[in-house]
Amino acid sequence: MARVVEGFSPRRILWEVFLGLEKGIMEKDNLWFCLSCHLCMEVCPMNVKVSHIIMLLKNIAVERGKAPNGLLDEVNSIFKTGRSMPLSPAIDKRRAAFSLPPLPSVDVEEVRILMRKLKLPFNEGGKK
Ligand code: SF4
Repeated sequence: MARVVEGFSPRRILWEVFLGLEKGIMEKDNLWFCLSCHLCMEVCPMNVKVSHIIMLLKNIAVERGKAPNGLLDEVNSIFKTGRSMPLSPAIDKRRAAFSLPPLPSVDVEEVRILMRKLKLPFNEGGKK
């Protein structure tokens, strides 16, 4: 990801953490460019768990209300529909074109129970 997104540098993120600047990291979008592909861990000669540290920083950012709006929209969509992206006739058509079966229904109440237990930042009032 660092090769294609200008300004995204896992190394820089770690340096800022070591220097106690993690508050500043949360103010930027950089963290959210990490795909959690773990390639950095595969190649690190010192076996640093880079992607785990970035995931931890993302979790802290969410707790502090610093998650990007797009992510919060997805979380709210999951709370509302059980899916990050609502189904649509266009999606059904595309699946059918690839001979894929329709997506199964989701037990939304079960999803909501899990989300409440995980204390995810969803908009409970906006569930209807
Ligand atoms: S897991 Fe590591 S290699 Fe993969 S995008 Fe995140 S920082 Fe980059």
